[in-house]
Amino acid sequence: MNPSTFSVSNPANQAVIAQVKNMTPADALAAVQKAESALPIWRTKTGKERAAIMRRWFNLINRDADRLAKLMTEEQGKALVEAKGEVIYAASFIEWFAEEAKRVMGAVPASPWADKRMMVLKQPIGVCVSITPWNFPLAMITRKVAPAIAAGCTIVIKPAEQTPLSALALGELAKEAGIPNGVINIVTADATNSIAIGEALCSSPVVRHLSFTGSTPVGRILMEQCAPTIKKVALELGGHAPFIVFEDANLDAAVEGAIQSKYRNAGQTCVCTNRFYVHESLHDAFVQQLAEATKKIKVAPGLEPGSQLGPLIDQQAVDKVKSHVADSIQKGAQLVIGGKLHALGGTFYEPTVLSGVKKGMLITEEETFGPVAAVIPFNTEAEVIQMANDSEYGLASYFYSRDIGRIWRVAEALEFGMVGVNTGIISNEVAPFGGVKQSGLGREGSVWGIEEYLEMKYVCLGL
Ligand code: ADP
Repeated sequence: MNPSTFSVSNPANQAVIAQVKNMTPADALAAVQKAESALPIWRTKTGKERAAIMRRWFNLINRDADRLAKLMTEEQGKALVEAKGEVIYAASFIEWFAEEAKRVMGAVPASPWADKRMMVLKQPIGVCVSITPWNFPLAMITRKVAPAIAAGCTIVIKPAEQTPLSALALGELAKEAGIPNGVINIVTADATNSIAIGEALCSSPVVRHLSFTGSTPVGRILMEQCAPTIKKVALELGGHAPFIVFEDANLDAAVEGAIQSKYRNAGQTCVCTNRFYVHESLHDAFVQQLAEATKKIKVAPGLEPGSQLGPLIDQQAVDKVKSHVADSIQKGAQLVIGGKLHALGGTFYEPTVLSGVKKGMLITEEETFGPVAAVIPFNTEAEVIQMANDSEYGLASYFYSRDIGRIWRVAEALEFGMVGVNTGIISNEVAPFGGVKQSGLGREGSVWGIEEYLEMKYVCLGL
């Protein structure tokens, strides 16, 4: 028998902060049933009606932003200032898709038949499921739930076992906003039950859409589990972002962008840089400035004033970072700064810079998901494009250059869903977020995000 509750702990001190219901596959299927029952009421509301309710939800999240940020830092570890930023970012998807709910549009193509007319309707796909990770406990949920419910779908959410409290708080506010019972259903579970629940949700013929953010291996499993019932799937999987500094880059700006793209959320985002490619002419200066800027980062529990880098999520995350650093050094990389557990102990890891990194080291292939900057020198544009694209991943990429011709060439040549040029921060609700290759399928946010949750229906009308 699985325990009926599981504990949620604070990664900054390992203290247990809550016990949460450990739901089972049967509970998950009951949630699907509730979502199915709520569908007729929700889908027949007008987009304008749904938008008004969603707007109330958006306002409530903003009202409670400080409380939600604190809760997030407690269960996830990120610095409070980042948690607050995430609350605002998470809410922005609700505001955006509330607006988009009013703008769903079909089409009336010109008919090739004189005696018939044609129409294309857009309709909600039906009951949806979202499985989300711990690194953005609110935003990864709202980025899926907001377009789904804006489109008229109902949804079952299975948040990560490490961070269910933010999800539950979001659910409470949805209720307060007047989102009808059954439209949003949250299924909490520990790691073991999550696997069985995933299987049950993917197998259910009632569920028409699965959207998942997490690792590529789990994405593969879920896609396979969705195959027998031919579900539509949207996958936001791993990344391995390159960050290229060309010889004509503004070095100070590149270092600033590097710090933002590398150390945000302690390096635990799928768009964090994993490989810095720096032109030989700037390499030594870049490494030195990056190390100096890295040294200034305040590592502290997320709730401590001034904290910029909190603990990693758990011991497994620390082990992965340790193995990447050890492997790099063993294969010839130089440790410039950091490279070990922080004096605070637990899962705090020192922000780290490695130079002399080469292809063949684990860090150039696997997602590190930690505060380690790996710097690799390069010589020509063609060479660095080839190196940057040499990955099974294709989520985010970044480069710094002031040459307009090069900016077009490189932006077009990079095989990634997103390219930041002269910036290390690219995400917002207006942008189509997503990857190519084994980084996933589909785009979230933007004017295209709602399409994921809409089916097209062709109506042919004889005159
Ligand atoms: P991460 O590496 O970010 O923890 P995972 O892919 O392991 O990413 O987890 C992301 C989400 O997927 C979490 O909600 C987790 O509970 C869930 N999950 C992990 N493994 C499975 C699985 N085999 N089936 C269904 N869900 C899973």
